[in-house]
Amino acid sequence: RITALVLGISLNALAQQAPNKAAIDAKVNKLLAGMTLEEKVGQMTQVTLDAVITTDDKKVTTEPHTISDAKLREAILKYHVGSILNTSGRPYSREEWHTFISTIQNMAAKDRLKIPVIYGIDAIHGMNYTIGGTLFPQEIALAATFNPDLAYKTGEITAYETRASYIPWNFSPVLDLGKSPLWPRIYETFGEDPFVAKTMGAAMINGYQGTNVGDRYRVAACMKHYLGYSYPLSGKDRTPAWIPDRYMREYFLPSFRDAVKAGARTVMINSAEINGVPVHSSKYLLTDVLRKELGFTGIAVTDWQDIKYLHDRHHIAATQKEAVQIAVNAGIDMSMVPYDYTFYTYLIQLVKEGAVPMSRINESVKRILTVKYELDLFEHPVGNTADYPKFGSDEFKQASLQAAREAITLLKNNNQTLPLKKGMKVLVTGPTANTMRSLNGGWSYTWQGEKNDEYAAGKNTILEAIQRKIGKDNVVYEAGSTYDALQNADDAAKAAKNCDAIVLCLGELSYTENPGNIDDLNLPQAQLQLAQDLAKTGKPIILVLAEGRPRIVTDADKLSSATVMTYLSGNEGGDALADVLFGDANPSGKLPITYPRYANALVNYYRKATENGNSDDTHGYNPLYEFGHGLSYTTFSYGGLKISKPTLTDAQALTISVNVKNTGGGEGKEAVLLYISDSYASITPDTKRLRGFSKINLKPGESRLVSFTIKASDLAFVNDQSKLVTEPGEFKIQIGDQVKTFNYTNAAFKNTSTGKL
Ligand code: BGC
Repeated sequence: RITALVLGISLNALAQQAPNKAAIDAKVNKLLAGMTLEEKVGQMTQVTLDAVITTDDKKVTTEPHTISDAKLREAILKYHVGSILNTSGRPYSREEWHTFISTIQNMAAKDRLKIPVIYGIDAIHGMNYTIGGTLFPQEIALAATFNPDLAYKTGEITAYETRASYIPWNFSPVLDLGKSPLWPRIYETFGEDPFVAKTMGAAMINGYQGTNVGDRYRVAACMKHYLGYSYPLSGKDRTPAWIPDRYMREYFLPSFRDAVKAGARTVMINSAEINGVPVHSSKYLLTDVLRKELGFTGIAVTDWQDIKYLHDRHHIAATQKEAVQIAVNAGIDMSMVPYDYTFYTYLIQLVKEGAVPMSRINESVKRILTVKYELDLFEHPVGNTADYPKFGSDEFKQASLQAAREAITLLKNNNQTLPLKKGMKVLVTGPTANTMRSLNGGWSYTWQGEKNDEYAAGKNTILEAIQRKIGKDNVVYEAGSTYDALQNADDAAKAAKNCDAIVLCLGELSYTENPGNIDDLNLPQAQLQLAQDLAKTGKPIILVLAEGRPRIVTDADKLSSATVMTYLSGNEGGDALADVLFGDANPSGKLPITYPRYANALVNYYRKATENGNSDDTHGYNPLYEFGHGLSYTTFSYGGLKISKPTLTDAQALTISVNVKNTGGGEGKEAVLLYISDSYASITPDTKRLRGFSKINLKPGESRLVSFTIKASDLAFVNDQSKLVTEPGEFKIQIGDQVKTFNYTNAAFKNTSTGKL
């Protein structure tokens, strides 16, 4: 379906004569047969060289390109490490990367077997660790586009720029389901819906990996963080989750299942525990489900130091050595940051003692060597600079801009406040108005994103983009408040009096992982206070939310005439927003996550019918803005919902079609969302479930028939036996305001109203 070829170069340009599977297997087996136990265990070891890990787990980051020769020698010639990753205190130029990666691979070439190192990096929204790289919107924003082609392009360009930085392995995409805004990594996800997550995830993986083995414009993708990482009970990162198997399979597994089908080469494991079992120790999840059920054949890498943590955080292993035994026997192939090489030392001992079978080691090493061959690292351990002329090009920037424009979601537009007229005088204010940190978020130039304003120099903040759009003379800027303290709200309110409109930019400072933990989902009081002070001026407020998760903004939203969610929209996000605010782009984003109204009422759209308690209970599901909500400057009408036949069977799919018409005055894009749910089922059905979507572009007056083909298996849910089943009975379809029902029959089911087998 995805045919976009954005690079303008043949996919085959750098591909080897695609080595086939049998040829790679033969090479791997030959190499493996000649390896010592030490060399094998070395392959399973992934170290970081640009950080010093102190005994109390503190990370002190140093400069990677100045890495000491002694440290590298030790890693490769003494321990034969198979992989290196960075942590990074700052981004590097391509020249620095070249020197660094060449130094590593030259050292690897000195080791007995000359096995190249596979270097990995978190290029999670573009090659965010190379100066001049193209930074895209974060995954939550890509999800809002409801346009898988954009996820594909993001993956394809990121792969190009990562390879242009001599790196073949990307720790992306995050396939965790973003169900709770309390969890700080929700911006790294494709949002709360399993269908969106699996569709966008597979598209991104296809973009990263391409289809040709040996293609040196592509990288190995890494599905993360398998499994159930995103739903800790407390909302805090890496804290315990309680997720029943049925629930896990219904909501969290589909994105990984489809990623395996898409051919993802690697997976990273969830650092936390599920139902009291740390996932790094779970043979059930790592071997039975991942390998036997999903059929995954690639590399399973731990997350940061997570084998060690089985001992000193989770306390399921009495010693470090036992932790290694448990993790490797459960199915781990590679240990990320093995802490002073204890992993290496203990694993060798464990094999010699018979506590870890040699067959387990061979299996892991085979997987690692296979991926190295597939990435063509043996022949080309370091790429040629000249092969990547499009690094940081305008063409790539345009792709990022387009993704940002399609992500931006217009949540409210009273009396057509937006678009603003270009001749207007505008006050731009708020803590997110003049910083790249709140456009790019974490994982941008550095782990926490704190150097965004330094390294994204030349990119436009929201303020700068608006100034460019309507001229500096028409823009007044007052910060108004910081993220959590009022600054000069009085000046802002005073300035507003001479303006036609206020663009109030609220939201969050960049963060990544546990520094993003919060105890209160409400936006800090100072930001609300700023909104209240400005509202007193009577001037229309355009509330812009530049944030990675839906913070509670209910009271601020009441004061606005228009509200726009801009997410973390990347380096072109400021310009994209200015385009939308002043009518040069028509917004078409839709929320990939429910925007809650209250901090204690966090419910996903695919709720149960009893979510609101009794019918007289007004608490429960009452979001500020629902999943899938998003307005346009034009209007669309839906009509003529048709189902190709009244009854669905296993033998024959049915087609659902609807006519969508642009009934407004301007050209616009519309994401058409198809929901189907069981009317009755053996376990309480979800009230709504997204089963398809399609993004279309319509000129004023134009209409289009949008069709979806639905098979019985597309409607399956996980029953109380943990089995995927589609039960016979009535199904309800909703597209826009159109509603219809159809029936599914299957003779294998008893004829009961719930359709139980
Ligand atoms: C994160 C991963 C990341 C890894 C390597 C961990 O702390 O959880 O998502 O890929 O670090 O940087």
